[in-house]
Amino acid sequence: MNEIVKACPTHELELRFIPEGISKAGNRYNAFYGCPEKLCKYSENIPEKKGHFLSMQGEHRRAKEIAYGGSANRAIEIGAKSKAEFEEMFNYFMEHWQVWYVKNVLNEED
Ligand SMILES: [Zn+2]
Repeated sequence: MNEIVKACPTHELELRFIPEGISKAGNRYNAFYGCPEKLCKYSENIPEKKGHFLSMQGEHRRAKEIAYGGSANRAIEIGAKSKAEFEEMFNYFMEHWQVWYVKNVLNEED
């Protein structure tokens, strides 16, 4: 997927992706591209559906990193004695997590 990189016309800095979230006032906001310059208010909107997809991708990556570490620790805790045993246990936990994640996290949103 080739993302067109946009820049702030004032600072000529590459815009940063800001994932969707909830403002301090408690309002939901869509993902958008913003200037990395702190006081600059320049931003470009992302269509809601695409913004949501990109935000979820970021979340998924973070969640996967955590699951990776957790699965490796669990395999060691249980007492994997060889590389093959470790791989087997690790894969088991990762698959388990994947199913759980799709069912409980991804399906919640729609
Ligand atoms: Zn700017």
